[in-house]
Amino acid sequence: MDCIFCKILKGDIPCNKVFEDDSFIAILDAFPGNEGHVLIIPKSHYENIFDIDEQTLKNAYGLAQKVAFALKSSLGAEDINILQNNGELAGQTVNHFHIHVLPRYKDDKVIIKSEPVEIEKNKIEQIRQNIEKNINI
Ligand SMILES: [Zn+2]
Repeated sequence: MDCIFCKILKGDIPCNKVFEDDSFIAILDAFPGNEGHVLIIPKSHYENIFDIDEQTLKNAYGLAQKVAFALKSSLGAEDINILQNNGELAGQTVNHFHIHVLPRYKDDKVIIKSEPVEIEKNKIEQIRQNIEKNINI
């Protein structure tokens, strides 16, 4: 399989690892958005949020929290962005599920931006109902 994260997991491509257990590795992003940008990567290949099982997803976010605390105490990150892209339109560039833990420092140059869009009032209710009836708990 031509997956760069699977190659990293196999040891075929070097990485800067900050954590490993039976299910995950956490590594420094090779193209960091800021100092200490960490990726949480499950050892099994899941494409994205539509593919990963719920328990692994929960564990991944649990690890993201631990890494967030570590970035605060080790690098003095004041705040943290947790980002997770699913699919090409959403900016996913490696099709192996991963969570970005992006530390934020005062006066850093990071820009994460989405502009509000205009939606008609009656359409909002239609959208709300559609989503509501499609949520499967
Ligand atoms: Zn993979």
